[in-house]
Amino acid sequence: MSDLNVSFEFFPPKNEAMQKRLWSTVEKLRPLSPTFVSVTYGAGGSTRERTHQTVSRIIEETGLPVAAHLTCVAATKAEVDDVLRAYWDAGVRHIVALRGDPPGGPGDPYTPHPGGYANAAELAAGARRISPFEISVGCYPEKHPDSPSVAADIELLKKKVDAGATRAITQFFFDNEAFLRYLDRVRAAGIDIPIVPGIMPVTNFASIRRMSDICGATIPGRLVKLFQNLEDDPEIVKLISAAVAAEQCLDLAERGVKDFHFYTLNREELAYALCRMLGLRPKPAIQEGAAA
Ligand code: FAD
Repeated sequence: MSDLNVSFEFFPPKNEAMQKRLWSTVEKLRPLSPTFVSVTYGAGGSTRERTHQTVSRIIEETGLPVAAHLTCVAATKAEVDDVLRAYWDAGVRHIVALRGDPPGGPGDPYTPHPGGYANAAELAAGARRISPFEISVGCYPEKHPDSPSVAADIELLKKKVDAGATRAITQFFFDNEAFLRYLDRVRAAGIDIPIVPGIMPVTNFASIRRMSDICGATIPGRLVKLFQNLEDDPEIVKLISAAVAAEQCLDLAERGVKDFHFYTLNREELAYALCRMLGLRPKPAIQEGAAA
């Protein structure tokens, strides 16, 4: 059995069909015994109810450890604290504490809500005041677009750790060298919490390119060439995407990375296949009435 730890990120479904898709994904990935699964929080709290319902259902029906994402956008501290209390009451013990993007979308100037938490470090501290949550936060191997420098970003990460964060999950990246350079700088700054690479599958190259432009992730020229002129060939894109993600994960594992966070986009195939390639195997289901 592999000594690696994996976690899976889901988004709250919008309708019945998406609900079925998510649930099939949860059931398929569950036997891989993830360290946790997480559920995103829509921009500006737009999925507040759906995130809560999804998180509660996963806890009730699977018993998997769940991390609920939460942002500071467009809410007072009191409103965010209410969400935190409701999560705790629903059995959530792990929060992914995030600032969130401005209402106009990433790239617009960010203005904290008057009376709200200004950033993820403040939110992490607020969450810890409410209840002893485990806290994960985001981090940016290629720098957050709002940040003047990687050094400033790392300073902010330090504040998040001081506020109680015990894990940082990275924005997606395709350049492992950039991640490993960042990791060296984080360690040199005295930050010793796990820095978990966020692995994003390329299901649609045009949209990944847009997202990368917005969040500042480099797309290596090699990848641009690999996906060139495949707009009408989704099956080939899928195969190449699997090969690219496998190459990335295996390289990171060979270089000592032990924790992986998969942005599943609520699809099981690629995350499951990558886990298998990394050596993980499903735990057999315990038969009712079987001797212990
Ligand atoms: P922070 O680290 O708090 O701040 C981001 C940047 O803002 C800093 O790098 C800095 O440049 C600037 N900044 C913050 N505080 C200060 C300060 N005091 N002084 C000067 N500059 C400051 N978004 C969602 O809406 N919902 C989600 O569920 C979600 N999940 C995510 C999961 C992961 C793993 C990651 C990496 C991101 C996720 N995001 C999500 C996106 C995230 O909300 C955006 O990247 C957002 O712009 C930054 O959030 P943060 O928590 O990293 O912010």
